[in-house]
Amino acid sequence: MSSSKIIDLSHPLNSSIQIYPGDPAFECRQVCTVASDGFNMCSLSLGSHTGTHIDAPAHFIAGGATISDLSLDHLVGPALVLRLPDLRPREAITWHEHIAPHAEQLANHASGIVLLHTGWARHWGTPAYFDNPFLTEEAAKRLAHAGVRVVGMDTMSPDEMPISDGKEPAGGFAAHEALLGAGVVIVENLRNLESVESGMTVSLAPLNLEGCDGSPIRAYAIAKS
Ligand SMILES: [Zn+2]
Repeated sequence: MSSSKIIDLSHPLNSSIQIYPGDPAFECRQVCTVASDGFNMCSLSLGSHTGTHIDAPAHFIAGGATISDLSLDHLVGPALVLRLPDLRPREAITWHEHIAPHAEQLANHASGIVLLHTGWARHWGTPAYFDNPFLTEEAAKRLAHAGVRVVGMDTMSPDEMPISDGKEPAGGFAAHEALLGAGVVIVENLRNLESVESGMTVSLAPLNLEGCDGSPIRAYAIAKS
């Protein structure tokens, strides 16, 4: 028997998962049961940015591309994984210190799918998860300029999180705006990136939600056997 070659990059969805402050809660409510209806069925209620998900440009850009406008050709392909070890809580990920050393790989990476492995998924489910390192506006702009089409992270946001609920982050949404404004799709709340090697094919396909600004995804990587 061969072991599974698929690496699951999505967090499980349940009613206790961490949600961006102020976003709608996740609910999967049983509305039919085998005992009374002959079958099981649930009613789902969730925000478009729940769990592991993608942000379409329309999330921050008026008139920007929506989820159903995105081509699957851009969301499935070989990934470039940039390892960013030893980041501190709320540390800025800068172009010069963290990304520029990989500039040559970026320039030669045709699929445009880049995954930033910060290791922050280890904090998922704890308050420390909200103290994620974040991309500076310059780093976001230069990633887009380098031809990157998809930036995936193992954090709740590419921006610094608000310190308290309902507040804007200190730096605003500069990374979101820079990436989405350049047509770059963002993937948030990935996990298991330590098991993904550059060159592995990843799938980051959303539900085909017409006109929507975001969608949960079942992200996975296919390991080479
Ligand atoms: Zn989002």
